[in-house]
Amino acid sequence: MWDQIFATRMARMTASEIRELLKLLDQPDIISFAGGIPDPKLFPAKAFQDAFAAALGPVMQAESLQYSASEGYPPLRDWIAGQMQELGVPCTRDNILITSGSQQGLDYLGKLFLSPGDTALVSWPTYLGALGAFNAYEPNYDRLCLHTNRPPADYAQRATAAGGQVKFAYASVDFANPTGETIDRAGREALLDLGDDLNIALIEDAAYQSLRYDGEPVPPVLALEIARKGDIDACRTIYCGSFSKTLAPGLRVGWVCAAQPVISRLVLMKQASDLHSATINQIAINTVARSIFADHVANLRSTYKYRRDCMLNALSQNMPAGVEWTRPEGGMFIWLTLPDHIDGATLLAKSLERQRVAFVPGRAFHADGSGGNTIRLNFSLPDETTINEGIKRLGALLR
Ligand code: PMP
Repeated sequence: MWDQIFATRMARMTASEIRELLKLLDQPDIISFAGGIPDPKLFPAKAFQDAFAAALGPVMQAESLQYSASEGYPPLRDWIAGQMQELGVPCTRDNILITSGSQQGLDYLGKLFLSPGDTALVSWPTYLGALGAFNAYEPNYDRLCLHTNRPPADYAQRATAAGGQVKFAYASVDFANPTGETIDRAGREALLDLGDDLNIALIEDAAYQSLRYDGEPVPPVLALEIARKGDIDACRTIYCGSFSKTLAPGLRVGWVCAAQPVISRLVLMKQASDLHSATINQIAINTVARSIFADHVANLRSTYKYRRDCMLNALSQNMPAGVEWTRPEGGMFIWLTLPDHIDGATLLAKSLERQRVAFVPGRAFHADGSGGNTIRLNFSLPDETTINEGIKRLGALLR
């Protein structure tokens, strides 16, 4: 009965088989590299206790518990605008919309740009949650290639042949989920050229931007575009930021930074969807960010850097020939490419059964269903001992 009355978009919104497998992870003897989450032991819990206590105190409680502006809490938007300026993005609070996590920003951008049959350009692989958000708007996907000479006309022709037009390119730019790789400056400039050639939006997913452990920071795509065009309101890049990887994912606070014509449409969407993000969460994030952000993030960086190095060392010591992996300069993930004949999903089933080690098989991150011989490992959650033991077991299984 239901299938005949659900909207057509639901056909694309399916639970992945991986999620089913990963449900097994609650068992205590399993070593998990599957999550993509911060270590809860590192949450700034005391700072949040104080911030929420103040938000619920006599001075702030009426405001904290009340409805508030769809654009977001103005002092938080100001603080974010200041951070964006430090990244080379001159802007004001009018260029900032607070969203319920950057995931909501991705959903809104899918809604803003995609009619059924339009094309979204994404990398192979790409962030699974972005594909999930965009799928509801029934797009086609084409592969975003930045370091080849694929002519822009080729993207446009394929989109027309598929019955739509190219609307945007989406890229997880720093220490991407799932590969850990960063788009270098030349790649970002190439993305801007493609955006101008095709007259499309560019969605810059900067969820991991603050988590750089070594190497030189690369300016945001939005900063490079402002350097070309002089003014954020002339830019096609839409920057999605998040406090999930730095302060606390459970509070669901992220932001979009973009030209005002885009922000004003997104504000309409925000009004129609949930009116505004939780007022008290925005107030608490504002207090905590203003008091400890830089120190806290420095602390996160040193812990995660150590864990990344442990995992890279353990991989060198334990992986058999034929297995390759990325060496991310930040973020939370290392991406493994296995010999062609090994399927990541089959390997996961065996690994859970024989070695009690979990990871995410890579196929789900590929809009075209390729990438069977890839897997994603997370290093932000497990400690050193767990990393060493887990990679040893995974190496044994692969040998
Ligand atoms: N983008 C990327 C690349 C992510 O990895 C995530 C979280 N896994 C998000 C966006 C969404 O994060 P949030 O909604 O918590 O900001």
